[in-house]
Amino acid sequence: MLVVQKYGGTSVGSIERIKEVAKRAAETHDAGHQVAVVVSAMSGETNRLLGLAKQVTDRPDERESDVLVSTGEQVTVALLAMTLKAMGYPSFSMLGHQIEIETDSAFGRARIQRINAERLLSGLRQGNIVVVAGFQGVDARDNITTLGRGGSDTTAVAIAAALKADACEIYTDVDGVYSADPRICPHARKLSRISYDEMLELASLGAKVLQIRSVEFAKRYQVPVHVRSSFSREEGTWLVHEEPSMEEVTVSGVTSDLDQAKITILHVPDRPGLAAKVFGPIAEANIVVDMIIQNASADGSTDLTFTVPKGDATKALASVKALIPELGAQGVTHDVDVAKVSIVGLGMRSHAGVAARMFQLLAHEGINILMISTSEIKISVVIDAKYTELAVRVLHDAFVTPPK
Ligand code: ASP
Ligand code: MG
Repeated sequence: MLVVQKYGGTSVGSIERIKEVAKRAAETHDAGHQVAVVVSAMSGETNRLLGLAKQVTDRPDERESDVLVSTGEQVTVALLAMTLKAMGYPSFSMLGHQIEIETDSAFGRARIQRINAERLLSGLRQGNIVVVAGFQGVDARDNITTLGRGGSDTTAVAIAAALKADACEIYTDVDGVYSADPRICPHARKLSRISYDEMLELASLGAKVLQIRSVEFAKRYQVPVHVRSSFSREEGTWLVHEEPSMEEVTVSGVTSDLDQAKITILHVPDRPGLAAKVFGPIAEANIVVDMIIQNASADGSTDLTFTVPKGDATKALASVKALIPELGAQGVTHDVDVAKVSIVGLGMRSHAGVAARMFQLLAHEGINILMISTSEIKISVVIDAKYTELAVRVLHDAFVTPPK
């Protein structure tokens, strides 16, 4: 088998941990597999480097910032390859440009466009454990780029796709993907399998196990991803394509996201072009709007409510306030003490009444629903933030079946 193993920051956070990683990779190699290992920077290192840049200037040059932060991974690949060689295993390290992980030129959030894995592949065929720097690539003009925070996950999955690996193991400090955050929900359980689509919803809803782009990649190239703990031998969670049996489970996971702010424009005259006027400038300010609802009233005016990430609330509010006279609206209100709670599951496609049941459960607890949005496999509600944990627990224990 050809296996790609990825170890995150905590898994390579000290020399002892790096030695553990080396042992684990060597074991896989001893079992007769070809092993490519992708590593992140040591935990805290990327933040430390970004902090240095901030000491130089408030707005560090983006190109140089990538030259700087990519060094974190250069340190760990060297240390790991060195450890493996000292243990007597043939091994060498590769940086993004040495592999040829080609990206676009969006510094700090570059997207992988092409991987030329030939040198990597021949290294593996010659029996080496090849150690690959996560998070980094190179653009068409040979500039170093990075893939965004948590980008080593995407490196690993992309490498696994390019190598047509039999498995991509993501080693992290949790032992898999859970049906809810175990810190909130004592009955949360580890999912042994989950579909790419469910994982995409969970990842975008605030379950921070994997960088979302890595899941998109895994789905597109059908990479079998195994999320598991570097601190234990137990099986974790497999990301797989959809299987018929998965539809039997109505809800796979419950998530909450406190990074939400709600803005309402009151009593806007209901005319064509209203939404375009409001959301044009917000998009130009690079603010991602999540949910939108519009309530029309009998007098021809409407209330427009939407949510944005908390950190963007002030900017979004200013943008909307500036438009009030032009819109002829009555005013703006906002609320940052809100949370989005969501249930996710493939089975929602074939089970009727899931939404109704969700609303009943919340009503029973006296939790008021401020906004609702749905997709084929997800229902989200915005509620008062102080009820977040209660809502997650109630929904989880009602919908997620205990293991048999
Ligand atoms: N070192 C990078 C970060 O901290 C990439 C990664 O860990 O995946 O975001
Ligand atoms: Mg990570």
